[in-house]
Amino acid sequence: MSSGDCCDASDRLLTLTEALAAALRFISPIHETETVALFDAYGRVLAADLPARIDVPPHDNSAMDGFALYWADLKLDTPTRLPVIGDALAGHPYPAAVPVGATVRITTGGVIPDGPDAVVMQEQCLIAPDTGWIELEAQTAARIRRGENIRRRGEDVRAGTVLLPGGLRLRPQDVALAAGQGYAALTVVRQLRVAVASTGDELHPPGVDLPPGAIYESNRYILIGLLRRLGCVVTDLGVLRDEREVMLPVLRDAAATHDVLLTSGGVSVGAADRVKEVIAELGTIQFWRLAVKPGKPVTFGRIGDCLVLGLPGNPVSVMVSFLLFARPLLLRRMATMPAEPLRVRAVADFSFRRKPGRREWLRARLRPDPAQGWLVMIYPTHSSGVLSSLSWADGLIELLEDCTGVAPGDTVDYLPFSGLGVE
Ligand code: AMP
Ligand code: MG
Repeated sequence: MSSGDCCDASDRLLTLTEALAAALRFISPIHETETVALFDAYGRVLAADLPARIDVPPHDNSAMDGFALYWADLKLDTPTRLPVIGDALAGHPYPAAVPVGATVRITTGGVIPDGPDAVVMQEQCLIAPDTGWIELEAQTAARIRRGENIRRRGEDVRAGTVLLPGGLRLRPQDVALAAGQGYAALTVVRQLRVAVASTGDELHPPGVDLPPGAIYESNRYILIGLLRRLGCVVTDLGVLRDEREVMLPVLRDAAATHDVLLTSGGVSVGAADRVKEVIAELGTIQFWRLAVKPGKPVTFGRIGDCLVLGLPGNPVSVMVSFLLFARPLLLRRMATMPAEPLRVRAVADFSFRRKPGRREWLRARLRPDPAQGWLVMIYPTHSSGVLSSLSWADGLIELLEDCTGVAPGDTVDYLPFSGLGVE
């Protein structure tokens, strides 16, 4: 096996933190961009800072349905009576200046006409539509401030400022902000092309009868679902036999046409674990094995310009190592900055003993407790082959390398799946 520049010289396994730091340094974000219509921009990575073109709102406007008037016209000792000389409805500005001593009816979003410096809510006025007057009690008038209910030009966004930063993964509210500036399309980083392969002679796709000794394949259904949520374009390479001659051409061709190659299985120390060898033969392995549980045999390397992530075979290891290890690397390659996973402090409703040394994640479920706040419990079995535990869980508990165990009532870090992009 060839070794790269971020392998640890000693036998000590890299910690997740060390491995992520080394891998993130090594990854070059993709640069190619494309322009997409706003409705196609959700989840895409903005290619460069997007400047604000106009002030928003573009004019002072009313925050309420009511009457635009001069604050100085309000009387504090006797009712105020003002003639209604016209309308300033949203989209239909009042065409002239309003003289002192008069008011215009205005709706939410209506442009404040020249002159008035306050809007009084309709509900605060005595309105006599047929007479064309409004009246305000002295008590009401006393509570109104100058500038009341006026949204100022540019108070939301100022022209010339950075509206959205490059590298942002666009959420609905970000796309809406761009729409509010009149942008009809956005320049985004092209989608990441990811190829996914499962390996193992025992694996058969769903939909066929199982021969003796075989199992149905499940890892691609985890990985492809997670990748689609990240907005990647996925190529399904199917299930590969544990044979060098089968894997080598498939992985070589996929590496030539994809940004990332993601495999599961075949990276441990078993007699049929060929994936590592094949990656090493086609490219470089930067590191193999991390001080984590589950997911220890994770392999990180490259074939040409293609990043290669060899995940272990057990379905739980696959999902955990994807979320904690592969996901931040994919985000980096997508030209966005991965955020730290959301960690919430919760009270353990379980006990757990362990050997320190590796960082460990337990499948967990959170529930509110009137007395203790957020309580978290774990799945009864810890085997990384038990996929049903992941379906049961709504997140993971993270135990740091030096943790020796958890007792009921201890505070632990809980990572909701939703904070890792899985909902
Ligand atoms: P491996 O790392 O290839 O030794 O696989 C470890 C365990 O995970 C074995 O029990 C495999 O049968 C199982 N496994 C590997 N790949 C998959 C898969 N795609 N779907 C379901 N189970 C798998
Ligand atoms: Mg295998």
